[in-house]
Amino acid sequence: MTDNGKQGTDTVEKNAQYFDRLVGDIAPVRSLHDELVALGTRIEYFPGATSPETLNGDLWATADWHHDESIWRLYFPVTAKAHAVYHEQLHARFKAVDGAPMMKTFPASDPLKESVGQLNNDLDHAYVVPREVAQYPEAAEYWEKDYKRFLGKIPSSGAVSLTQLQRKSDLLRAWLVLPVAMPDSPITQAFRAELVKDKWLDIGDEMSARVQAAGADKVLAIHAFREALGRGFPPVGRVIFTH
Ligand SMILES: [Zn+2]
Repeated sequence: MTDNGKQGTDTVEKNAQYFDRLVGDIAPVRSLHDELVALGTRIEYFPGATSPETLNGDLWATADWHHDESIWRLYFPVTAKAHAVYHEQLHARFKAVDGAPMMKTFPASDPLKESVGQLNNDLDHAYVVPREVAQYPEAAEYWEKDYKRFLGKIPSSGAVSLTQLQRKSDLLRAWLVLPVAMPDSPITQAFRAELVKDKWLDIGDEMSARVQAAGADKVLAIHAFREALGRGFPPVGRVIFTH
């Protein structure tokens, strides 16, 4: 344990270097880092490097959780926006401090792997994005664009039932985040109008409130999503919740 003091000092010096070139206010990034470390979270930063797991990190920030080593590794462009790194730290905070598990398919090779991974990320974002935007109002612009792109891919109303289910799932996924993070933004109004077209706004609002109340309890959160969707998706027997 005597090495920890030395490692701690090295880490602090490295982190100072890592954060200095970020664009925007780095004070919240520093203080969230300090909070995570004080609570025993291990976290390393790799500016200018890509994740060997996902190959992301060159264009936007990304965070990998290494279960075997109990460590987070964050990859991001050297001059990334401060809010993007803060965003990844919040993913780590949700898991490490609040105790949120990750929802995954079991076995990992299950064909639903990708959609379950996306949904897990959306459940994280119901926690992460409101806090990111509250700290960095400029992050709203990023999420406006991101959700606008997403809205463009959502099937229009009145299609065949399978497409209609896809549409409902997509709209509800967005509704986990938007009314909480950016209640008055034009993109939230656009999604609200889509939900209204199919009379899904009430169930969407109820789901969103239940997910906020569930906090880190993803089992409860996904139950609220399944009820709003009206389908057992993702199927109970094909997902696990791991720490
Ligand atoms: Zn994220």
